[in-house]
Amino acid sequence: MDFWSFTVEASYFIAAVLFIMGLKRMGSPKTARGGIVWAGVGMVLATVVTLWHPAMEAGVGRYFLILLAIGIGGIGAWISGKRVQMTAMPQMVALYNGMGGGAAAAIALVEMYSGAAWTHGTTVLILAVAGAIIGAVSFSGSLVAWAKLEGVQKKTIRLPQQHLLNGGVALATVGLGVMIVMAETSAPLLVTLLLVTTLALGLLITNPIGGADMPVVISLYNALTGLAVAFEGFVLGNAAMIIAGTVVGSAGTLLTFLMANAMNRSITNVLFAGFGVDDGAEAEGPEGEMKSVEAFDASASFAYSDSLIIVPGYGLAVAQAQHKLWEFVQMLQKEHGVDVKFAIHPVAGRMPGHMNVLLAEAGVPYDMIYDLEDINAEFPTADAALVIGANDVVNPAARTDESSPIYGMPILDVDKAREVYVIKRGKGTGFSGVQNALFFGDNTRMIFGDAKQVCSDLAGGLKQL
Ligand code: NDP
Repeated sequence: MDFWSFTVEASYFIAAVLFIMGLKRMGSPKTARGGIVWAGVGMVLATVVTLWHPAMEAGVGRYFLILLAIGIGGIGAWISGKRVQMTAMPQMVALYNGMGGGAAAAIALVEMYSGAAWTHGTTVLILAVAGAIIGAVSFSGSLVAWAKLEGVQKKTIRLPQQHLLNGGVALATVGLGVMIVMAETSAPLLVTLLLVTTLALGLLITNPIGGADMPVVISLYNALTGLAVAFEGFVLGNAAMIIAGTVVGSAGTLLTFLMANAMNRSITNVLFAGFGVDDGAEAEGPEGEMKSVEAFDASASFAYSDSLIIVPGYGLAVAQAQHKLWEFVQMLQKEHGVDVKFAIHPVAGRMPGHMNVLLAEAGVPYDMIYDLEDINAEFPTADAALVIGANDVVNPAARTDESSPIYGMPILDVDKAREVYVIKRGKGTGFSGVQNALFFGDNTRMIFGDAKQVCSDLAGGLKQL
């Protein structure tokens, strides 16, 4: 091994260590920022040293194109990353993830069109074909997920005999893959047909899935992209790609299962059940009336409470109310001696950790933030619970109503608190589209309005006491 090859491989090893250490640090909110920097440094190192990879000798004249592509991609990502709203993060992840899958598929296609994939032996050829299929499905599927979450595609399209059609296209894709592997040399027609069926498969699988399940689907595609990148790493003999792909694949798989478990759903149910598909029907509500209260009156109740548990949800993120909320909480603590805790449901918001990030951004100390299993037992003894823009994650139907689409999902037992206050704009349902009996409870009072405005009014109410 010459000096340059050794340097490249050693740098890949260091990059891999940085990826893994970075990922480990992302496991806690305290170290997550640092973890992202570590993994980012690893990625820069892996990208830069690749320019000295022995395989690059053949393409020295293309350095300009490579640097141009890195420049365009890097600047685009920097700008979109700076501008993206927290609530739009899932679709941004979908888009970036789709690009990763597309890049892996593109590598496989180049290798197959040029015939190079046939020079490495059958195992590597199988990996190239598998990587192409997985990468292309992930690419087109992620684009549909992005379009749905961004509101570009408003309707969920379900074709007649959808499962049969999907099965037929999947079978054709596998058949084409087998034919390519059996071919003695490059077979451009088969490769083109494979590209068409794989892209179609991604569209067909993702289109019928409702917006409600998109974050889980994105996480699944993320795992698949990682797998495709790892496979193509074998094709190119690139250790950094193999390790980074494997890390992404396994982390994505774990995340997918964690999200599905927190919603009490199986992956097959997510992929094939069409949960959360908006069919235009009005959601049926529980009997009774919601009782509303003005923010000023509610703030007096909070001030005279000994203990308050706050449950943030998606509406907090939409309203960007975290700073106003924290201002209000600090007044309760300092001026009225209220013991305040935050309760976070694992799928509150639109991505795992969404609420933790918002609260951290506002400066809420980590020791005030509790996970579901650590706080649920405290609701029955809490004087008051304040739900801000959360709905499904506090819906008691998940415990009792077997016909509810969210039956079985673990929820925060807010209804057991002595008094419950809920901030939301109107009578709209949550993500799953089902009504919430909590809002009709005897001990529940609704504070209608935008979460940011209401938090500001609550703080204003405290000042007048
Ligand atoms: P929900 O989406 O169930 O409810 C949000 C509520 O916020 C709505 O009822 C809405 O009512 C209210 N709201 C919206 N905008 C505002 C605003 N500006 N001010 C005040 N209130 C507002 O949120 P949850 O966090 O309770 O639940 C998350 C849901 O997302 C679950 O169903 C979960 O399964 C799903 N999900 C989460 C994932 C994750 O990883 N976190 C992944 C996949 C799915 P109104 O319109 O009346 O204001």
